[in-house]
Amino acid sequence: MINIRSKREIDLIRNSCRIVVEALDLASELVRPGVSTQVIDDRIDKYILSQGARPAFKGYNGFPASSCISVEDEVVHGIPGNRILRQGDIVSVDVGVECEGFFGDSARTFSVGEISPEKYRLMQVTKESLYDGLSKVQAGVRLSNVSHAIQTKVESANFSVVRDLVGHGIGQKLHEDPQIPNFGAPNSGPRLKAGMVLAIEPMVNMGTHEVKTRADNWTVMTQDGLPSAHFEHTVVVTNDGLEILTVLN
Ligand code: MG
Ligand code: MG
Repeated sequence: MINIRSKREIDLIRNSCRIVVEALDLASELVRPGVSTQVIDDRIDKYILSQGARPAFKGYNGFPASSCISVEDEVVHGIPGNRILRQGDIVSVDVGVECEGFFGDSARTFSVGEISPEKYRLMQVTKESLYDGLSKVQAGVRLSNVSHAIQTKVESANFSVVRDLVGHGIGQKLHEDPQIPNFGAPNSGPRLKAGMVLAIEPMVNMGTHEVKTRADNWTVMTQDGLPSAHFEHTVVVTNDGLEILTVLN
């Protein structure tokens, strides 16, 4: 069942999303060669707590940190630690926040110093694929039109969409119905309705779409060792389109 949120509930989700955005903005300022992923996570954790909120990932199925920080061939769910960011890396930071019982979720991939043109293109295409998907969101539209738009952008750029992980509804839980794949044929799946809140999150690999999980049982990595990028927004469906809750006006 896909929840339809009231204005009050959307306002609470919006507040959690605001904290997510501000935490990601702080992370973006810290990303540079020589910084450990732990330092970035500590800053995110401290900021979320300072807002009277809770880092939603901490303790989720036992995840040990407040953010997921995934470097280079790490796709998602990277555990922050003593890894040092190096010039030329790309790093994906994913933040979830719970405040007053409502959740927000967003991710961005950052460049560490100067990166190769191909990594830059990977980041750009991933972000553009998210916005192509978002451009389809509107009450009455079938959900797989969003998935299809993402896949089309990614594959036309000769990159690949991760299939083992999907976007999701969000609200009073971090992960609610529906699942939102980043691939698929158009004109299927549930019809969107105003008040649905969705976290749409293409994970895009430079090489093969296939992934594997590291021995830490969390970190998802590309099978071929090539880099991966990830962008995510939490949005609310409206009658004439959407509102992106993880962009501040
Ligand atoms: Mg996320
Ligand atoms: Mg998510």
